[in-house]
Amino acid sequence: MSTKYLSHLGEQTKSIHAGEAPDPSTHASSPNLVMSTTFTVDATTGFSVEGMEENDAWVYTRWGNPTVHQLEEKLAALEESETAVAFASGMAAITALLFHLLKAGDHAVVSDVAYAALSEITNEMIPDLSVSVTKVNTSDIGAVRAALQENTKLVYIETPCNPLLRLSDIAELAAITHSAGAKLAVDSTFATPVATKPLQLGADFVIHSLTKYLGGHGDALGGAILGYKADLTPLRKKTSIRLGGSLSPFNAWLILRGLATFPIRMRVHEENAFKVADYLENHPKIKRVIYPGLPSHPQYELAKRQMKNFSGIITFQIENGVLEAQKLADKLQIIHYAVSLGHQRTLIFYLNSKDLLKTSFKFSTPEQSDSWNTFAGDGIFRLSVGLEDAEDLIADLRQALED
Ligand code: PLP
Repeated sequence: MSTKYLSHLGEQTKSIHAGEAPDPSTHASSPNLVMSTTFTVDATTGFSVEGMEENDAWVYTRWGNPTVHQLEEKLAALEESETAVAFASGMAAITALLFHLLKAGDHAVVSDVAYAALSEITNEMIPDLSVSVTKVNTSDIGAVRAALQENTKLVYIETPCNPLLRLSDIAELAAITHSAGAKLAVDSTFATPVATKPLQLGADFVIHSLTKYLGGHGDALGGAILGYKADLTPLRKKTSIRLGGSLSPFNAWLILRGLATFPIRMRVHEENAFKVADYLENHPKIKRVIYPGLPSHPQYELAKRQMKNFSGIITFQIENGVLEAQKLADKLQIIHYAVSLGHQRTLIFYLNSKDLLKTSFKFSTPEQSDSWNTFAGDGIFRLSVGLEDAEDLIADLRQALED
């Protein structure tokens, strides 16, 4: 079903139907998996992607593929964007966006706390290309405004940000970014389109690691950029096709399958996260719990305004985090001690402030350190609450937290 007929439908209906139609030759109801890397074409077909048009026949899978296209259509319907470009991972999507938008002599404002690999490439690789980068706490509008320069082309945020769950106000940032003639990109991996639609709030680009909630099952890496055709048609040619970080059709097919239950899963992630957060907030050993759905979150008012679903990620602090991390890794029976998030399975991981500040977030102002300390102290456990029965998760945490 074409995306344009779906705008009035609910999110769960879109998750099932958008981008998909019965296969015209077999009448198969589920999406076909087309693994072919090449397609037979007419002898008049050109070899350059330069002349490629939106509805041209399939030529070569790096240029476009029917299964990947179905996924892109479904993502665009869910995010209510004009179009989407899928990539091999969230990081492939992010690097494509940075390479596409930033040229030598340009400047970018980037969140001082964000997914570690983004922080690391904007500390070193992007400045090595003669693009200057200013890192700021993007929840502080004044700090972002002060960082904007005449040559600023991009403001890049994550909300809620990994790993702090600190929020940034998309609508306010879009207004000041546009008044400086720059574009706003929002990594909305933690929020997902069920919670927040950054394009409706004025953002120019939305980024998702499909590896997380959208795929939802911890078995396929993927990424996507969503936005306007005027931006993403050239971006597809210059980055996905030429740099080659294209998504495997097999992963696209797995992610499509995961997306069929996406809004239902997000409801359960949130429901379970509330129960687990409530248990942790009342545990005598736990110093602090951060969850955007709790009134104790420092930006609860913004969370209520900007998020229709508070998602499933909680952070919490315990005295002697390093020791407790070892204990949890040894004793947890249902919850996996592992990186990543947004899977059906509950995952927990300890993030030590000292290590992260040294390797990824190299703060330059006392305000940046203060904000980090408010949310993370010496270190935080990042708990990605899955879809198991909440009572079982709480019982597992209870036995593992016992002395
Ligand atoms: N953005 C966020 C917010 C993430 O948490 C991650 C990974 O954890 C990424 C991007 C990178 O995604 P991927 O692992 O799919 O490359």
